[in-house]
Amino acid sequence: MVIIMQAGAPDSEVETVIAAVERAGFRPYINPGVERKVIALLGALDAEKAELVDHFFALPGVERVTLISEPYKLASRRSHPDSTVIDVGRVSIGGHRLTIVAGPCSIESRDQLFAAAQAVKEAGANLLRGGAFKPRTSPYSFQGLGAAGIELLAEAGRMTGLPTVSEVVDPGDLDVIAEHVDVIQIGARNMQNFRLLQEVGRIGKPVILKRNPGCRVQELLMASEYIMLEGNPNVVLCERGITSFENATRYTLDLNAIPVIKRFSHLPVIADPSHAAGDWRYVSAIALGAVAAGADGVMIEVHPDPSVALSDGPQSLRPEKFRELMQSLGQVAAAVGRGIAQAE
Ligand code: PEP
Ligand code: MN
Repeated sequence: MVIIMQAGAPDSEVETVIAAVERAGFRPYINPGVERKVIALLGALDAEKAELVDHFFALPGVERVTLISEPYKLASRRSHPDSTVIDVGRVSIGGHRLTIVAGPCSIESRDQLFAAAQAVKEAGANLLRGGAFKPRTSPYSFQGLGAAGIELLAEAGRMTGLPTVSEVVDPGDLDVIAEHVDVIQIGARNMQNFRLLQEVGRIGKPVILKRNPGCRVQELLMASEYIMLEGNPNVVLCERGITSFENATRYTLDLNAIPVIKRFSHLPVIADPSHAAGDWRYVSAIALGAVAAGADGVMIEVHPDPSVALSDGPQSLRPEKFRELMQSLGQVAAAVGRGIAQAE
């Protein structure tokens, strides 16, 4: 952080600021400019100083207070230069190979889930997704099977050998989800539900944190900080489309966010083209684009018969389309120097 004094601020004001900096536990470094003085704070990461910005700004003679580095610390590549690789059983997220998460939006029945699970496993997916506690826009829509759905997902995971992913919407459901599921998803709507983030932080299980469509990359990284600060470093970030003026698709996948996050953070990043597009026709093209841009994997909604899906049918791929996508993902992965895990 640097504190920029007003031009011609008297020495007494500069001394007051220096004393305040020292009181706060930092070493001041004074740049003796001819017109104005600039005081840099040494001795700690900017993340620890962020809340002091207003404190120093209020002092007489101060013109501006600027943070130089990022306000997130644990998620920052500065604090952790190597990219993080998260292991989920025999699957890893963030390594050389892409990680493909696939399955239905919601777990609807044993038959539906098992058909989807079998299909994505055969096509080569690495993780099986399925929502049991659904954050629906309308309270009249299907809300998910709850704990019964979680048990079905665990069974489908055992049947296919695929680790499982499911969303938590309420801290009260976390125990049952964490008991049966390998990766916990925080949905876009809960990206800034800070209590929920802290609760999943206290559980060591890997977390997929989805970006809220109205939030900036920095806010996503700050949200990941809440999880990591509780002692859980296993956070995967997921770009799933942001709100824009464009209404030809449900959201707009922010492709830019992928290399931006990769630059500023060591955490793995995956993309979810299903929710971004809202239309199965565009899902494969967007998935390939995300991998070309450097995503560590993709999350794809797959349903054995999207026409009867209880949620997100229009954006769900049929198994045969998903199989085709897996082939193309392998080609794009190879073109950008990545691999794709082979189906066992
Ligand atoms: C989902 O993954 O089914 C979901 C609800 O996604 P999002 O939170 O990104 O809307
Ligand atoms: Mn969905």
